[in-house]
Amino acid sequence: MKRAAKAQSSGLAEYQSRRDFTRTPEPAAGGGPSGTGRRFVVQRHRARALHYDFRLEIDGVLVSWAVPKGPTLDPGVRRAAIHVEDHPLSYYDFEGVIPAGQYGGGDVIVWDAGTWQPYPADADPARELEAGTLHLDLAGEKLKGRFVLVLTKKEAAKKEQWLLFHKHDEQAVEGWDPEDHPASVLSGRTNEEVKAHPERVWQSNRGPVGEALDALGQLGGAGRWEAFGREVAVTNLDKVLFSGSGSEPAVTKRELLEYAARIAPVVLPYLTGRAINLHRYPDGEATPGFWQRHLPAHAPGWLERWASPDGGTSLVISEPAALLWAVNNGGVEWHAWTSATGAPDLPGYALIDLDPGEGTSWEDVLVLARLHRTALEHLGLSACAKTTGRRGIQIWVPIAPGPTFDEVRAWVAQLSTAVGAVVPELVSWQWQREDRAGRARLDYTQNAQHKTLVAPYSPRAVTGVTVSAPITWAELDDPHLDPGLFTIRTMPGRVEAAGDLFRPVQRHDQQLPEL
Ligand code: MN
Repeated sequence: MKRAAKAQSSGLAEYQSRRDFTRTPEPAAGGGPSGTGRRFVVQRHRARALHYDFRLEIDGVLVSWAVPKGPTLDPGVRRAAIHVEDHPLSYYDFEGVIPAGQYGGGDVIVWDAGTWQPYPADADPARELEAGTLHLDLAGEKLKGRFVLVLTKKEAAKKEQWLLFHKHDEQAVEGWDPEDHPASVLSGRTNEEVKAHPERVWQSNRGPVGEALDALGQLGGAGRWEAFGREVAVTNLDKVLFSGSGSEPAVTKRELLEYAARIAPVVLPYLTGRAINLHRYPDGEATPGFWQRHLPAHAPGWLERWASPDGGTSLVISEPAALLWAVNNGGVEWHAWTSATGAPDLPGYALIDLDPGEGTSWEDVLVLARLHRTALEHLGLSACAKTTGRRGIQIWVPIAPGPTFDEVRAWVAQLSTAVGAVVPELVSWQWQREDRAGRARLDYTQNAQHKTLVAPYSPRAVTGVTVSAPITWAELDDPHLDPGLFTIRTMPGRVEAAGDLFRPVQRHDQQLPEL
């Protein structure tokens, strides 16, 4: 249990880092302690997955768990409860709509609230939680009687897994289902009603985060863009390339260039010194994309070039302006080689590509990712995970140059075969997609010189323009994790708050151990 009992501000750092308070109506901080100091609230939250947020007021914050199936009075049922970040006391009466695209986007109602007491009454709740068991008496409108919270699983870099259940007492009700009691105790409304008429919708007159791209904003539909010390010719700036997801506005070429300019300093370390294959979509989603592995003759002379082994001339993005040039030429997706131009036969990463089939759910992808996480932990290897921006997850293991692509591919094949054997119902080893019966493929064949994986932070050419988003290992346990929420509109704010989560793959000093 990692929690700052007294230093309220530091206890809320994680809560604050995950949210953009110019966009969400959730409170940033604040809220005075109650007279008793022992309030509780349960919020029914329809995020990507429905869950109930169970929060106890302890030492000036709301200590919180996400309970996917909700608390119940039925003493025969134990509910999984995932410990999540502390929330400010002012969250106690939060009811409203978190905008799509924000952390935890969805509608929230105050499903139950009241006071609680530890049992025995003189117990120190913070200490009990540290020890992994808290007995508590709830006095809410729906939840009453004695409950127990028990820590079942605590592993580094993962969310703590707890169980929440009701004791056999006078308040216990067999067969009691929280979904049969859907109304807010604050407003009497259901989630559906709050969603239809949210009282607190985000309204902000503040501008977007990040540096204003004045020079780009001053250009009409085309012109010479002064950016990063170069003059880049840009065209068709107001052309719509992709429709927005949901009610989001469409994405123009100008907005894509803005994103490229904002993210360039972050993504550049993953591109520099490597040849790049651009997946070009000059007409956005209107026409199919095509690959461009070689630079056209008309490309400006200042771009870095590399004579690749296949006889062509490849682009190397070694400065931000080169990325802008690529995007202006339709290079929506950025796929860099995994070997450096100086040693093209030596891969810099072992790549684990979790490629979902038609029947693979997001939860299945997470199961596969968590199994690989466990395997890599056991092997003592540092690695990073990222969403692909579509439905998959990739894990990159940085390695010291040495083994060949064949050797690295064989290593990943062995690892993934062992992992896949744990969940044979989720995985197919068939080569052809149609032979896989909808199951996922653990695609070790990506470890080849001529294959490239999408770079971290690269946009994807889909509605809403999602992004391949680095994630923490703990986020694999987060019921809010939704790859569709990482877009060119949300990623700059996430990087500002969380930093570059992919940074550990830049070390390149690891050896792959014997399996
Ligand atoms: Mn929640």
